[in-house]
Amino acid sequence: MSPFTYSRATDADQAITAISGKSQSKFLGGGTNLIDLMKMGVETPDNLIDINPLPLAQIEELPDGKGVRIGAMVRNSDLAEHDLIKTRYPVLSQALLSGASPQLRNMATVGGNLLQRTRCYYFYDPAFPACNKRKPGSGCGAIEGYNRIHAILGQSEQCIATHPSDMCVALAALDAVVRVRGPNGERQITFGDFHRLPGDAPERDTNLQPGELIIAVDLPAMPFAARSHYLKVRDRASYAFALVSVAAALDLGSNNKITAARVALGGVAHKPWRANAAEKKLIGQEANENTFRGAAEAELATAKGYKYNSFKIELAKRAIVRALSDVAALG
Ligand code: SF4
Repeated sequence: MSPFTYSRATDADQAITAISGKSQSKFLGGGTNLIDLMKMGVETPDNLIDINPLPLAQIEELPDGKGVRIGAMVRNSDLAEHDLIKTRYPVLSQALLSGASPQLRNMATVGGNLLQRTRCYYFYDPAFPACNKRKPGSGCGAIEGYNRIHAILGQSEQCIATHPSDMCVALAALDAVVRVRGPNGERQITFGDFHRLPGDAPERDTNLQPGELIIAVDLPAMPFAARSHYLKVRDRASYAFALVSVAAALDLGSNNKITAARVALGGVAHKPWRANAAEKKLIGQEANENTFRGAAEAELATAKGYKYNSFKIELAKRAIVRALSDVAALG
């Protein structure tokens, strides 16, 4: 591990001042991803600013029934078990509990979860020369290499990595808003704009600006999200990243017609993938397997597989059908 200095911040402004103008500094939250990356030599910050003392660990209802605010330092396990989340946004609770291990969830923070980096094998191995995300311009080892866990939607010729978070797939479906604070004050970023597709700059995972700190995530009121579900397909149920996952919520009318739908996919793209084409297909249709299959076909129409991951295309379709069927069956 490369040498680094360490300091602690006790409030957000102090943290932002401490990192201002220092491109090699990083905030340290739960450290469950960053410390691994530092040990591997993938991340080499020269300064860590510990933000664990920041008073950002609250989960609270917003006034006038506008939803729920989740502080950036809330631990994943606390969020998953919170009554407001379990009753109003079960898809989020389920996504969190499907991720990592209990020990990791006890440490990992909401802000850090948003900033998780891909688990692409080539990204994690600094001895491997070709990885545009780790070393811009060096190539992509995965495109012609072992790409079983890689993207089938939204990828570029520069990078076919996937985003590893389960929590973020649920947040994409729930229209979450990320609140950040930086040297120029606070701003809000809609969830769909927070993470990036790789394009020709795969080294950038998000649209955060230098020196910005994630303060909170807002969940808008969405009464039908009480009827929601997270389905994760992976190699072993105990502990693994998703090959494909689906976050789904449906609002059903009295005649079983779909009046609103939210669908997002994990394990398929560089960012949590909001399934806009599937949602469009679902609206106004009867909630049945034919409808769900049509939505899945529409969403995966532009998917592209590689030597070892083409199976994900049909897997994603089946996972969408299964997740929506499970939601429709909820009381
Ligand atoms: Fe690097 Fe992305 Fe290619 Fe993986 S897929 S080797 S992260 S450029």
